[in-house]
Amino acid sequence: MLIKCKLVIQDLTSARPKKRSLRSCVMTSKLNDEYYVCVKNSMYPNIKNYKIAMLQNIYHNYLKDGKLGLEFNEPRQTLLIVCQDKRMLYMFYRQIKSIIDGKNVLIGSRQMPKTIPAKKDLINRFDPMSLNFVAVKRFDNRVLNMRHLSRLVLQNCDLQTLPIEIGHLPIKYLSISGSKLPTLQHELDMFWNWTSINTICQSLTILKMDSIGLRKLPFEIVFLKNLRTLSASNNNLTYLPQFIGELKKLENLFVADNSLLYFPHSLIARLFNEIDISNNSFQLPRSLKFDHIIKYSEMSETGVNGGLVSGTKSLNHLAFYKMLDYWIPFKRQDLPRSLWTYFDVVGRCMLCKKWILPEYSEITHTFALPMAASTIKDYTVSGIPWQSLICCNTYDCLGF
Ligand SMILES: [Zn+2]
Repeated sequence: MLIKCKLVIQDLTSARPKKRSLRSCVMTSKLNDEYYVCVKNSMYPNIKNYKIAMLQNIYHNYLKDGKLGLEFNEPRQTLLIVCQDKRMLYMFYRQIKSIIDGKNVLIGSRQMPKTIPAKKDLINRFDPMSLNFVAVKRFDNRVLNMRHLSRLVLQNCDLQTLPIEIGHLPIKYLSISGSKLPTLQHELDMFWNWTSINTICQSLTILKMDSIGLRKLPFEIVFLKNLRTLSASNNNLTYLPQFIGELKKLENLFVADNSLLYFPHSLIARLFNEIDISNNSFQLPRSLKFDHIIKYSEMSETGVNGGLVSGTKSLNHLAFYKMLDYWIPFKRQDLPRSLWTYFDVVGRCMLCKKWILPEYSEITHTFALPMAASTIKDYTVSGIPWQSLICCNTYDCLGF
């Protein structure tokens, strides 16, 4: 027979036995003339069997309170069963008693709960000590209890949010490839907040975000100081912002199948291990019209961005540069929205290496191939344009 209960499995060989109770099914079964007590729950989705012949003690004094204890010799464990249905628990106890007394007990074969489907099984195998978690459909909040998690795969999920709390987990590998990001702007703005938590900033080395419809890289990735591999293939990127150069440990970059027109100068001296730039829209730098920073400047001049071009210049940009120098993680919403665009267009002057905004710089393009041990590119590409910024004011720049 089968009872539904809350179950604590105590390991009698352990100095500090676990006391966590799990919703479980406990049942009797007979196999090859041997009787078993079987347990099925999220810890043992595939059933754990205890031979009734190995039963050493039955604690039945609290049956009236809906409690039963079964102590086994092999394995050295005690099952503490708490069942709301006291009548069923009593019958369960009587059945085990009959088996021990040597009676031939008939056990129905239809009592086994259905096997959990493979997909559900994956989620149900929840273990707080897990190092690895693969979500099947959507983010599962129980992940947040996995304090040792180092690999989190949220592929092809409906990710309406990525809780900020995942930042507290020591995740080294995170993939959100193929997942559906929020459609509401407000939710999208909060999506990257987990990067503001110190643990993940230090631990994350691989970030995969292929095929998620990305139009530009979120500036928050720059907080991930130890990132070595960034994969953003098959998105809608037309440029990589200059700040990507601040990821000093980045050695693998996969940006195939985007619409990239040029690369940021901040990566020109980087020696990559592996880089994939195939199937993009790199052109000869004949026309500068396509450059996103130039476009931004033109819009500022016409006042679309409320830029700093005309009249007395504000000094806000100096505070902004200071902030970039430290890159102390923050949430996007902590900054005025007007600054968000700055992240896409700010860069370091190629001469003096100081931070510079388009209002104070000129854009030039050079032509070269990235340096890498292994480069994947279209065979027709002999070089790509690199976008660089240079201070307008040479006095500021070189000190004369
Ligand atoms: Zn300069």
